[in-house]
Amino acid sequence: MAGLYIHIPFCAKKCAYCDFISFAGGEEEEEYINAVIKEMNVERPQNIETVFIGGGTPSYISSGGIIRLLDAANERFYIQKDAEITIEANPSSLSAEKLEAYKAAGINRLSIGLQSAMERELKMLGRLHDFNCFERVYNEAREKFDNINIDLISSLPGQSCGDFMYTLERAAGLRPEHISVYSLIINDNTPLGQRIRRGELEPVSEEEDRAIYHQTEKYLKNEGYARYEISNYALAGRECRHNLNYWLGGDYIGLGCAAHSFMRGQRYHNSENLKDYIKAPQIKQEVQSLSLEDRRFECIMLELRLISGIERKRFKSRFGADIYELYTAVINQLIEGGFLELTPVSLKLTERGLDVADSVILKFMD
Ligand code: SF4
Repeated sequence: MAGLYIHIPFCAKKCAYCDFISFAGGEEEEEYINAVIKEMNVERPQNIETVFIGGGTPSYISSGGIIRLLDAANERFYIQKDAEITIEANPSSLSAEKLEAYKAAGINRLSIGLQSAMERELKMLGRLHDFNCFERVYNEAREKFDNINIDLISSLPGQSCGDFMYTLERAAGLRPEHISVYSLIINDNTPLGQRIRRGELEPVSEEEDRAIYHQTEKYLKNEGYARYEISNYALAGRECRHNLNYWLGGDYIGLGCAAHSFMRGQRYHNSENLKDYIKAPQIKQEVQSLSLEDRRFECIMLELRLISGIERKRFKSRFGADIYELYTAVINQLIEGGFLELTPVSLKLTERGLDVADSVILKFMD
């Protein structure tokens, strides 16, 4: 079983904070889809449990393009009858026609990028929608889809905890099945990063960022959304299966420009250059066979992100030894510091550990 990720690298316009592999305009749509199908057809047929069409902005390209990709995937792979099939969409490029076509093509989960409900913040981010546009599209989507995620970004420059709570309340008020909340990562090479460097915008402090994070968890818990990963919340049974497979170290095939794959212990990725990818989509870069030690560290890095943590029995069956036996000193030190909790069943981050997850995880590399 594996997950299938298909990357659509086109967007209507580059957002002010965006450092992803995405290109404004979509003139190359047809040749790109042809290239992805060509790449697909050199992959070994597999059982596929989840499909995730991400971007970029998949909803920006024609629904015909998405249908061609899904038809080709259905021909090449054994996509399970109950597979979770997600598409990412932006409010400004979603239409009733596209929603209808997605549904007919078997897509059963939508992930819509709201990011903020505040006009001022959306403008600062360079997004093309406002909250009214989002709400209209969401309500249309709701008529056809019973599994919707809303993506939000917190800790925007100048944002107070109250500002973010306004966005969160409006998003949760629509009762999506899933909400993702990522703190803004500021990249110097983006227009937003440059404005911050020039002193035109004030980044939020570490304390404010943490206050927003804790308030988010508290608010969503009250609303019935459980935090199951550092940045992801879901109603019971509505966790994202595609991402869970990734966090739990499952195989996944990544198709498209810059897409990453992890199959049978090997990691590799495709060219990040659109022209090069279209010319030779089957060429894999930096093919790396992971050693046992690499795979163990990778497991710690990904599974500690889950609120349930690392299941000790599963870890032992994968790596032949109990995690505590392998990392006794570092685990003891992190437990003493209040960052980790060890039970007979699992090893997980405490609330304090979740605040500094990256540094806790890095300790396992020392
Ligand atoms: S929609 Fe997403 S991928 Fe596209 S430019 Fe904006 S942030 Fe980047």
